[in-house]
Amino acid sequence: MEHGRAEDRQWERAPSERFTGDVWFSSLSNVGDEGLNALGVWFSLGARTGWHTHPEGQTLYVVSGAGRVGSRDGSAVTIGPGDVVYAEPGDEHWHGATPGSHMQHLSLTTGGDTEWTGELVSDAEYDV
Ligand code: MN
Repeated sequence: MEHGRAEDRQWERAPSERFTGDVWFSSLSNVGDEGLNALGVWFSLGARTGWHTHPEGQTLYVVSGAGRVGSRDGSAVTIGPGDVVYAEPGDEHWHGATPGSHMQHLSLTTGGDTEWTGELVSDAEYDV
């Protein structure tokens, strides 16, 4: 058994071409977890992903703070600790923090890399 302490985790900053604001992620996958990509993701106030899809869908589990998830139909919902969000394969969406709070979630995906549309989420799309 291994105990990875919080203070020893390695965090990487998410690239500004694909994310708005300060977003950090840390891989939780272990060597041998070929099929599963597990990430801890931290969004600062107002930060969010750009528009994207996941080839085999994505499960988000909110750990702390307050966030939003948006869909191409223009809707966005508020999410909080303990909420579970599932994005279906190929379903374009975004996720991030609310303007007034950070948000931390666990991201679980299989099937390879996130597919980015190259489009950031505008303030108008974020504020619905
Ligand atoms: Mn996603």
